[in-house]
Amino acid sequence: MKAHFESTWLFLAALALAACQAPAESSAASAASNSSSAAPRRVLERPSAERLYADVAWLADDAQEGRRAGTPAELRSAQWLAARFEQLGLAPAGEGGTYLQAFDVPLPVELGEKSAVSLVGEFAGGALETRISAGGEVLPLFCSSGGAASGALAFRGYGLINAENEWNDYAGERGLLEGRVVLVVRGVPQRPATAADAAASTEHGAVQSGDGWGSSGSLFMKVMNAKRHGASAVLLAPHPSARDEALPEFDHSRAAQAGIPALAIRYDVALRLLPAYEALVASIDEHGVLGGAFDDSRSPRVAVNADVVRSKGPAHNVLARLAGADSSRTVLVGAHYDHLGRGGDGSLAPGQHGEIHNGADDNASGTAAVLEMARLLAASGKPACDVVFALWSGEELGLLGSEHWAQRPTFALESVVAKLNLDMVGRAGNGSLAVLGVGSAEPFESWLTAAGPRAGLDLKLNRSGQGVGGSDHQTFLKRKIPSLHFFTGVHSDYHKPSDDLERFEAAGAAKVVAVCVELIERIASAPRLAWVEPPAPEQGGVRVGAPMRVWFGTVPEYSYEGKGLLLSGTSPGSPAEKAGMLAGDVLIKVGDIEVETIQDFMYALQTYKAGDVVLAKYLRGGVEESVRVTLATRDAQ
Ligand SMILES: [Zn+2]
Repeated sequence: MKAHFESTWLFLAALALAACQAPAESSAASAASNSSSAAPRRVLERPSAERLYADVAWLADDAQEGRRAGTPAELRSAQWLAARFEQLGLAPAGEGGTYLQAFDVPLPVELGEKSAVSLVGEFAGGALETRISAGGEVLPLFCSSGGAASGALAFRGYGLINAENEWNDYAGERGLLEGRVVLVVRGVPQRPATAADAAASTEHGAVQSGDGWGSSGSLFMKVMNAKRHGASAVLLAPHPSARDEALPEFDHSRAAQAGIPALAIRYDVALRLLPAYEALVASIDEHGVLGGAFDDSRSPRVAVNADVVRSKGPAHNVLARLAGADSSRTVLVGAHYDHLGRGGDGSLAPGQHGEIHNGADDNASGTAAVLEMARLLAASGKPACDVVFALWSGEELGLLGSEHWAQRPTFALESVVAKLNLDMVGRAGNGSLAVLGVGSAEPFESWLTAAGPRAGLDLKLNRSGQGVGGSDHQTFLKRKIPSLHFFTGVHSDYHKPSDDLERFEAAGAAKVVAVCVELIERIASAPRLAWVEPPAPEQGGVRVGAPMRVWFGTVPEYSYEGKGLLLSGTSPGSPAEKAGMLAGDVLIKVGDIEVETIQDFMYALQTYKAGDVVLAKYLRGGVEESVRVTLATRDAQ
C-alpha cells in the first residue's frame, strides 16, 4: 500500500502554498482549498511507523506496569509524556503552567488480614466479642464494603428472590431484617436435577443459566437482596453437600460495591454460628422455601468485620498546546494512556489477576499516535488554529480524566471546535479503520471519504457516536462538540495481559495518523463547525461485557459521588427518554429499590423485567419528582 502514502504527501505539498494566505479572511478561498477532493496543505513529513513502535514499546513495557490510573507507574508515564511534549516545543496546557492536571480516582481494592466473624455475648457490664473464625476461614466478597457491623443472626435459606420459580426467601416477616446479620447458603436450591440444570447454573456471573434461576443465584444478587431488606451484613456459607468448597476468590476485576460488609465463610464457621445449619438446609431442599423456618428471636448476636480497603489516589491528565494562527479556536486531539495495571476492575482475564495488562493496543497505540501527530504538526509551523494534545487518565475507570477536564477545563472549553479521539488503533494491518461520530458535523463524511484512500485505509464510517464500548469522545459529544472516534476493533486480547507489543501493527497505525493529521488540518482551516446531533446507534450493536436484559436508558455520570444515580443524559428512544427524564436528574428509587449507588441501579435492572411499569423517583433541581417508566429490552424499541 506504499503508493497511497506517497500520494497523500504529494497532495499536501501541492496545497501547502495555497493555504498560507490568511485562511480566516477569505472563507471562499479556504472553502475552495478545503473542498474534500483537494488534500489540505502544510504537513510535509510522513508519519513514522518506527517512532510509533518505539513509543508503544515504552508504554507497553512491563516497567510501566500496565499504567493503572492513580499508581506510581501512571505518574511515571505521565511525566514521560510531558517530557515528550516539551521536547517537541509544545506549550504546557495543564494546570498552573504545567503539562499535568491531577484528579482523584479510586485505587485498586486491597484486602487486609482483619476480616472476621465473632459472637457477641452481652452481660450487665457490656458486650464481649468472641472471634469464631480463624484466618483463612472467611473472605470478603468482591462487592463487600469495608467495615464492621453487628446484629442478631438471621438465617434466610438461599437468600433468593425469583418470581418465575415462586421463590422468595424474604417474603412477609422474613423480609423485615432491621439490621440483622443474614446467613444464606451459596448456590441455588437443590431440586431433582436434569442434565441441563447441573451444567448451567453459575454463581459468579450474571449469565443466563438453563436452570431457570438466571442471575438470581449470583453472589451480587444475594447480597443486594439482603441489603434491600435491611440487613447490616451478609454471610454466605457453602451447602452441606459441598462443605469443603473453597471460599470464592476475591474478584478484583469487579468494582461493584454493595454498600454493606459481605463475607464468604467456611462450613465450620456456619456450624459454629448455627449448629442446626445442616438440618435447616436439608429441610429447605426437601420442603422448599418454607422449609427453612428459623426463629430469629432466639438467635445469637454476631459481629462481622470486612477488611476491604477502598481508597483514592491522584491520577494525571497530560495536555500540551501547539499555537496556531487563530488562538480563539482549538482542535482537541486526545487519547487515554491509562490501562488496567495488574488486572482488577474491567479485566477480561479475572484468572490472571496480578499479571501486568500491558495495553499495547489499549491504548498505548492511540497515545503514540497522538505523540506522532504532535511531532508532525509541530514540525510544520503554525496550524490555522491552536491544536491541544490531551492524554487522558482514568478512562478505564469510567472516562474519569476527560470528564474531570471537561468540568474543570484548563483553557476555555468553548474554544474547542472539535475533538478527535483515538482508542485502540493498533490493529489496522488489515487496512480497516472504524470512525464513529461522523454525523456530529456535516463536512466530516466527505473529508474522511477523501482522506481514507489517500492514507491507504478503508474507513468504516459510523454516523452515530456510539458503537462497541465507550471512550473519551463521549465526554465531548454529550457537550455537543463535534467529535470523531478512531478505532480498529475489539480483539481476543482486549483487556487481557496478552494485549502486547508483538501484536501492535505500527505500519497500520501510521496510516491512522495520516488520516487524523489530514482531518486536523481540515478542521483548523475551516470555518467553525456547526454541531449536528448524531443519529442513535444501530440496533444490535454488540457491547463489550454482559448485556443487560432490561433497558431503562440512563447514561450515568460516572464521576458523580453523591447519593443516587446522576444522569448525564438518556439513550435515544429509551424508556427513560420516553418518561421525560433529563440530564442532571438524580435517580433515587426504582420501584421499591432505593438507589444510592450505580450497583443499586444495576440490581434494580436485574430485579424487574421488560414490560414492568415501575415508579422512578428522582431529584430535579433538588426537588423530588416521580414518573412511571415502562421497562423495555434493548431490542424492544
Ligand atoms: Zn481504551
